[in-house]
Amino acid sequence: MQLHTLTLRELHELLTTKQISSVELTQATLQRTHEVDSKLKSYVTIADDVALEQAKQADERIAKGDVTPLTGIPFAMKDAISTRGVRTTCSSKILENYVPQYNATVTQKLADSGAVLLGKTNMDEFGMGSSCENSAFFNTHNPWDLDRVPGGSSGGAAAAMSAGLCGFSIGEDTGGSVRMPAGFCNVTGIKPTYGRVSRYGLIALVSSFDSIGPMTRDAYDCATVLEAIAGNDEHDSTTYNAPVPQYTQHINKSVKGMKLGIPKEYFVAGMEAGVESAIQEAIRQFEKLGMEVHEVSLPNTKYALPVYYLLLFAEASSNLARMDGTRFGLSVADDAKEILDIYLQTRRVGFGDEVKRRIMLGAYALSAGYYDAYYLKAQKVRTLLRRDFESALSSVDILLAPTCPTTAFKLGEKTSDPLSMYLSDIYVVATNPAGVPSLAVPAGFSNNMPVGMQLIGKHLNEQTLFQVGHAYQQATDWHKILPAIT
Ligand code: GLN
Repeated sequence: MQLHTLTLRELHELLTTKQISSVELTQATLQRTHEVDSKLKSYVTIADDVALEQAKQADERIAKGDVTPLTGIPFAMKDAISTRGVRTTCSSKILENYVPQYNATVTQKLADSGAVLLGKTNMDEFGMGSSCENSAFFNTHNPWDLDRVPGGSSGGAAAAMSAGLCGFSIGEDTGGSVRMPAGFCNVTGIKPTYGRVSRYGLIALVSSFDSIGPMTRDAYDCATVLEAIAGNDEHDSTTYNAPVPQYTQHINKSVKGMKLGIPKEYFVAGMEAGVESAIQEAIRQFEKLGMEVHEVSLPNTKYALPVYYLLLFAEASSNLARMDGTRFGLSVADDAKEILDIYLQTRRVGFGDEVKRRIMLGAYALSAGYYDAYYLKAQKVRTLLRRDFESALSSVDILLAPTCPTTAFKLGEKTSDPLSMYLSDIYVVATNPAGVPSLAVPAGFSNNMPVGMQLIGKHLNEQTLFQVGHAYQQATDWHKILPAIT
């Protein structure tokens, strides 16, 4: 049986009908991971012992009939999310040996549901990047072509899911980090509404953008995992105090008569021809499903990238101030005469170039005399970006756009030019300052590499995204095509 190709509901069925135990499933997944990941490098830490212990407990629950849709299913977690007793590095030297003493809320919720933690996946250092090449440890490869990047920053989580090295994975999206790698690796992934999933225990990049979300084989599975991790949390006051809908119960509702908006600013020169034709084909598919297609406008789109990066630099520079050699992880105190020497030495050795670049730019944008001109101005334009989405989504139910103007690029292609790397985020960054949810769905291939599209909805309306994504996946098979490595 090709266990690594199955959906969550197929795995759930095998587990609850006792055709396989969680220990057997976990052992098989670990064995495959050890074999395949020597080429792929999607995991920073493979936690064999933790996984087998949790699998044993899951089997006990299954024997008692105490099951959730995730009980006994092995999953991988982006290495920015705290796991008690399991090293959590953010793919940074500064946290290389940091072992959290508590679980993030998401980790705890998954443990409560009986899911099995396999390990922690590679990422761009502290989430800063679009290719995983900013990891301090190693590059992750795209399972569709090992010479190409998996996308970033949750590239490890996407590659592991794509290659079948987990039943599902958990990523985090500050400005595309779930959707862009999902698109590059042909998996489904969601950036939920800001505040839908607790950030407690997530090592912050941009506290006002960060959104944790699952990556899966399809929209149905994505809905299943989001149901398990979403909800109000007393440890995170920015979480919504609104009940979590049972997304999967209503996922089969017809999309006939719904209105699909195509933002005209997202279809401009520079898009790879094969990406554009795949997206046009997807639009025709939605028409066949009975949706009405309308052109809409998000007029401030041209400001999205500079506003996103400016606010990111500012918030990240302040969030990362806590990495100073006296609290977490690395501490370099050689010949230190005063505390400042520890701060400086630790940060010099511990942070990579991209992190340093962003901290410097952020500190500059926040400094007296520049704050009003840069940070405050960017916050004002952020409000305009939010209003763009509100206004477009007042006349249509959902928006559709590519996740990236190109398919996965070659390793090393953009590393010497940070600006061209930032430009690859052009379609995914506006949703985060606006806080709206967005689901990435496989939409075909261009030159044998996967093309991703995203569906964008109103605040807290993940339900509609899943419904439309599921309808598309009932009518197409792109999400079922797996890389040769599987
Ligand atoms: N490419 C984005 C960046 O470099 C991704 C950030 C994220 O979503 N973590 O900022």
